[in-house]
Amino acid sequence: MTQSSETLKQLLDQAKQQQMFLEMFVRSWVDDYRSGGGAVFCGKGCRNCCSLAVHTGFAEALAVAGQLNREKERAVERYALTLRELVGGVKELPQYLRLHRDAMGGCPLLNDDGACSVYPVRPLTCRSLISTRESVWCGADFSKIAPEEREAFVAGLDRKVVSFPSHYVAVLQETGKELEEAGAQQMRSLLGFALYGNLGVLVHLCRAHDLAGAALQGRGEAERVIAEAGFDHPLLVTVS
Ligand code: SF4
Repeated sequence: MTQSSETLKQLLDQAKQQQMFLEMFVRSWVDDYRSGGGAVFCGKGCRNCCSLAVHTGFAEALAVAGQLNREKERAVERYALTLRELVGGVKELPQYLRLHRDAMGGCPLLNDDGACSVYPVRPLTCRSLISTRESVWCGADFSKIAPEEREAFVAGLDRKVVSFPSHYVAVLQETGKELEEAGAQQMRSLLGFALYGNLGVLVHLCRAHDLAGAALQGRGEAERVIAEAGFDHPLLVTVS
């Protein structure tokens, strides 16, 4: 095995271990919460949270890129190119998140039946989003909901566990973020820099522009590939 492929293998192995760890933590947390009378609404075919922008570290995107068939590769490419056009003039995160939810039509990795086509390698971000309210709230645009309904929603939240004022479980999201940061640290120690960004964009860059090969050559080459492909926008990809 060459040094380059060994480096990529180390990144992928760590991402896999982190995902397995989070998976076990989520399962045990949900079991405990339910046995104490709490409700969790996530389940198969439930996909409203898949309309939100998913951001991941490089290794997790690389793992997803290795799982795509031609159809999904094309769907990811369409998604990435559309998003690139849409975010051109966008500078603020809230505007980006709104635009993504309203205009992008869901994750390109979703199957028609609502199942995730890359479920075994789905990123930490997806795994850590666990809903304590019905799925209709996961894709809701709160600016369009009547004030009384909004107040009833907030009043019904279990403030001991949610990332208030959202209905997602705080400790699971925080753990996902900590694991992502550990993945970024590993990339920095192996390659001298870390990449983080929109899942569809990073997957497209891996598939169509050999971002992994560029990253192995160093930060400058990775930045060049990202810029040449037109994705050098801080809301889409960051290099740190
Ligand atoms: S990767 Fe899978 S779980 Fe995550 S947003 Fe896309 S379809 Fe949903």
